[in-house]
Amino acid sequence: MHDYILLEEKYGAHNYHPLPVVLSKGEGIFLWDVEGKKYYDFLSAYSAVNQGHCHPKIVEALCEQAKVLTLTSRAFYNDCLGPYEKFITDFFGYDKILPMNSGAEADETALKLCRRWAYDKKGIKENEAKIIVCNGNFHGRTITVISMSSDPDSYKGFGPYTPGFINIPYNDLAALAKALEDPNVAGFLVEPIQGEAGVVVPDDGYLSKAYSMCKEKNVLFIADEVQTGLARTGKLLACDHENVKPDILILGKALSGGTMPISAVLADDEVMLVIKPGEHGSTFGGNPLACKVAVAALKVLKEEKLSENAERLGKIFREEISKIKSDMIELVRGKGLLNAIVIKPKKGKDAWAVCLKMKENGLLAKPTHGHIIRFAPPLVITEEQLKEALAIIQKSVLEISGELN
Ligand code: PLP
Repeated sequence: MHDYILLEEKYGAHNYHPLPVVLSKGEGIFLWDVEGKKYYDFLSAYSAVNQGHCHPKIVEALCEQAKVLTLTSRAFYNDCLGPYEKFITDFFGYDKILPMNSGAEADETALKLCRRWAYDKKGIKENEAKIIVCNGNFHGRTITVISMSSDPDSYKGFGPYTPGFINIPYNDLAALAKALEDPNVAGFLVEPIQGEAGVVVPDDGYLSKAYSMCKEKNVLFIADEVQTGLARTGKLLACDHENVKPDILILGKALSGGTMPISAVLADDEVMLVIKPGEHGSTFGGNPLACKVAVAALKVLKEEKLSENAERLGKIFREEISKIKSDMIELVRGKGLLNAIVIKPKKGKDAWAVCLKMKENGLLAKPTHGHIIRFAPPLVITEEQLKEALAIIQKSVLEISGELN
């Protein structure tokens, strides 16, 4: 185990701080380390593995297509992209998709679409478009994306930054109204729940009111559902909780069930067709392998009723966590199976210590911002498995806080 960690230390960039566990196998909701120890996965690769590790139907689609054709580039047509585009646009109810790879790229794509729409359709003067974003956001790691960030860990030391963004507090409609007064505003980019910020759930009605305010000002409502999408929060999209249909929808992560990087931007013609041939793209975006994998991954969500499972089990999760009597648990929050607990450190023991203890007891989760632990198991988890996992969480917290009798 130690050797693998040393190799990463010595030969890899130090841009992550992983929990000291070396994994070599995954199946459904479980992971195994190189010594054969089995764990509940309560991170799901930041919600990329909603369908469970190595889902047989997704892996089959991947293997079958890998034997036939993997990449043509978009210089030519292929026999997988069109059918995928039809499938996914029907699935989400949009006219068009623009396929990309990572979440950050999809966010960048949405920003470009919004700016071009501002100039071509809204009539904003060239180079003056602004996009409203929220403090606490996480949209990825590229220069433009970190230019929107309010977290110094993300942006500090990487300037100069891309201009054209207005930062406002999250879940603050008054601040949004004020920002919308600027006639050069073209879009409002928002996570329906802020995942990386620590599963910050806005007030009921925030998204729908924000959407109508944007409509009033002819501003595009852009939802980053890279983490909240695809059944994670108990609906196919988190925006569905408020019956909001974003003008631009950004998807990633679980679009491949965690098998490869696949992201997508969906919009109707009025927005999508502002980008013309040669103005945007990606060598790998929309490759035949990705197309087949994404179709399989989306079908699994519906066939296995993963939204319904996330909705039902999420309620049980929050109820049961609230019953744990420990002064280390300040609060539990979330929607569906995207949840977090806020940890109050005790005698020098913090969220990291709780995660290490949970690892020892057979469950993997990761702290975010030092004092928050996100719990996001694959959505194929059963009630019985969830209860077993809850028992591990309870035992670990009580052991660490010294409250176990
Ligand atoms: N958007 C959101 C809401 C995310 O949570 C993430 C990653 O955590 C991203 C974008 C970036 O995705 P990627 O890491 O695939 O670039």
